[in-house]
Amino acid sequence: MVSLPILNRIPVSAAFGQIFPTPKRWAIGPPTTWVHRSIGHVELTGAVGLGYNQGMTHIPLYGTTHPAQTGAAREQVPKRSLLELTQEEMTDYVKSLGQPAYRARQIWDWIYKRYAADFASMTNLPAALRARLDAEATVSPLTPIAEVVSADRNTQKVLFQLPDGQSIEAVLMLYERRRTLCISSQAGCGMGCTFCATAQGGLARNLTAGEIVAQVLYFARYLATPHAPPAMEVDRPTHVTNIVLMGMGEPMHNYKNVWTALRRLTDPEAFGLGARHITLSTVGLIPMIDRMAEEGLQIGLAVSLHAPNDEIRSQLVPINRRYPVAELLAAVQRYIEKTHRRVTFEYALMRGINDSPELALELAQKLKPLLCHVNVIPLNPIPDSPYQPTSDTETRRFVQILNENGVPATVRLRRGIEINAGCGQLRRAMAA
Ligand code: SF4
Repeated sequence: MVSLPILNRIPVSAAFGQIFPTPKRWAIGPPTTWVHRSIGHVELTGAVGLGYNQGMTHIPLYGTTHPAQTGAAREQVPKRSLLELTQEEMTDYVKSLGQPAYRARQIWDWIYKRYAADFASMTNLPAALRARLDAEATVSPLTPIAEVVSADRNTQKVLFQLPDGQSIEAVLMLYERRRTLCISSQAGCGMGCTFCATAQGGLARNLTAGEIVAQVLYFARYLATPHAPPAMEVDRPTHVTNIVLMGMGEPMHNYKNVWTALRRLTDPEAFGLGARHITLSTVGLIPMIDRMAEEGLQIGLAVSLHAPNDEIRSQLVPINRRYPVAELLAAVQRYIEKTHRRVTFEYALMRGINDSPELALELAQKLKPLLCHVNVIPLNPIPDSPYQPTSDTETRRFVQILNENGVPATVRLRRGIEINAGCGQLRRAMAA
């Protein structure tokens, strides 16, 4: 991390330029406050906007150089992430340090029950052990490099940097009773959906199980810390209530690591969130849907459908050429028969592409036999894309046709549109 005094010594515009070397989409006004000095980042408030998405109220810039731009950072050997370890592996590791086995349980609880961000806060560990752990390991493998809060202060998006310089996004959405976290499963994505910002950069790599878990722990820590910046509108409860794997990446394409993370997140001995409060979204990798049906964990399944027939869907979701609509719906039927769980279909409405009444009727006829619900989603538009969102009137009509033909459907609130809350959008804007 660059120390804040260094940032203080250079003009804000220069600091900004160091972090985002070509900030042509960014307009930034004079900073009015510098806060959070103790945790090493600065907050800029005032006239701040993000190019084509004006309306943002708040862009804290973390006091780090962008590791992707510093060769030295890349050459550093990453510390061992303890989030990759099972309880047994944690015990082995602690013993390898010459410590008694019960220290493993103490560290485990600090990570998963008290959301510790570092070893210094693990106050029941001996100081020498804390120093040794700090030298060679980490419990915070993700570095937040940008953070944006929506104008209504109900949605917060964080861009994280991974130890190898890749970046991923996660979004926290505050509702009256829920605190829903949308997390990423891959850095980038190889599925190539034509309406998606993440697809445009392709797949960099799978996230490790620890990197998936780390996103949740970051926000759990934020929610559990009274008055932690940034301020948000709704009073914060102290825990994450729901998780959706709908961020960057196709979770079924990183199956092993995703399910290792899901077991950690649902394990009462670890993070302990009820499986029914977690939803995994897929574009429809059929063999993995069949595999998920055998997992015995009550994780919800959401399928990104976006069209009722192969002709349109193959244009939007290229993997449809391999797993066409009829075979996908048959796999969903098998899943329902096996798990007795209702499946959600995601349907992003795009003007003139997949939003006609005829297509709504075709969709209803195909989904009616299934125990399902349709989330109709107004498209989060991305710059330079041919796809535009459907009007509110047409959206309501689409939903009405589904409902009148026996398929439960609702419009999902579009959250954080002005902060690039659609998956991959903040990362893309930052790179522009
Ligand atoms: S919509 Fe999802 S599966 Fe498709 S490219 Fe984007 S991240 Fe990947």
